[in-house]
Amino acid sequence: MAVSSPILRVCALYPDLMNIYADRGNLLMLERRCAWRGIGFRLTSSSLGDPLDGSAHDLYYIGGGQDRDQRLCAGDLHEHKRTALHEAAARGAVLLGVCGGYQLLGHSYALDDDEMPGVGLLDIRTVRERGPRLIGNVAIEVTLEDLDAGGEDSTDRAAPKPRVLAGFENHGGRTYLQAGAEPLGRVLKGHGNDGRSGYEGTRAGNVIGTYLHGPLLPKNAWFADWLIATALGVEIGELASLDDELEHRAHESARRAAGLAAA
Ligand code: GLN
Repeated sequence: MAVSSPILRVCALYPDLMNIYADRGNLLMLERRCAWRGIGFRLTSSSLGDPLDGSAHDLYYIGGGQDRDQRLCAGDLHEHKRTALHEAAARGAVLLGVCGGYQLLGHSYALDDDEMPGVGLLDIRTVRERGPRLIGNVAIEVTLEDLDAGGEDSTDRAAPKPRVLAGFENHGGRTYLQAGAEPLGRVLKGHGNDGRSGYEGTRAGNVIGTYLHGPLLPKNAWFADWLIATALGVEIGELASLDDELEHRAHESARRAAGLAAA
């Protein structure tokens, strides 16, 4: 495997506060899949009051959180980490936000009379409206470039196949994509960004936000590999293949829970 940097450098933002529904499992998944392939893995964390280096990591990760914890992080993110995150995104680092973390990658999260600032990397606004929380198993269809690069069929490169991400969502906030925003995927089952639009998540280059917990990556190994390859700047076909029997079963089980047929 021709990986220019043999180490995946990951920075977890607020791992002590933004970590509900086992979102920490996403980091373990990245670590394991790197280790099995002989790729180094360096995990750094940056929490309240800590500095953040926008040039030092390949992947920045922020998980989900309760409104109260999110409020603490929103102020800190905006004040102390926003510039570094913009710098990281501009040089093509991967930024992944899950649920509360996703909301904070946008412009704002408004609830009651309060509006938390986001870092403004995704062109979205989130509002806590009247109505039930959007809860349940969810499956979305996602089309990402490069997934099949390196495969035998060269036409795959021109027309990437849609894939399924399956997980669980639980959010009070409704996220609205603004004019310039691209959704991450199309809802097959579940609520998605606002329960109405039929879209889930947002993507701007390598900045990705999604409501899918589960945690997300152990249920969707293909997406973990896409993140690893993108963060390392290699094509996914350059990653050594792994025995994904268990991961496949986890994915199938999450699909079934959401009400989708087996792949
Ligand atoms: N507090 C946010 C909401 O309810 C995010 C919740 C979460 O991360 N699960 O919308």
